[in-house]
Amino acid sequence: MARVEVDYDVCEANALCEATAPDMFFVDDDDQLQVEDPTVTDENRSRVERAVASCPKSALRIADGA
Ligand code: SF4
Repeated sequence: MARVEVDYDVCEANALCEATAPDMFFVDDDDQLQVEDPTVTDENRSRVERAVASCPKSALRIADGA
């Protein structure tokens, strides 16, 4: 199952990914990006790919695997 992964070492919590996929990402009250559900499905993949592409820090990736 594919999952979206966040590199918290480079994420600056600017919420650009949240703007594209608000059901998946949100920035919490402590300015920390949270992933609601990291599962990438056939249904949400194109939106997740747009969120990954929108990240100016290249902090997101889709990990394909079992
Ligand atoms: S767009 Fe990138 S830097 Fe911004 S909150 Fe999302 S993962 Fe972090």
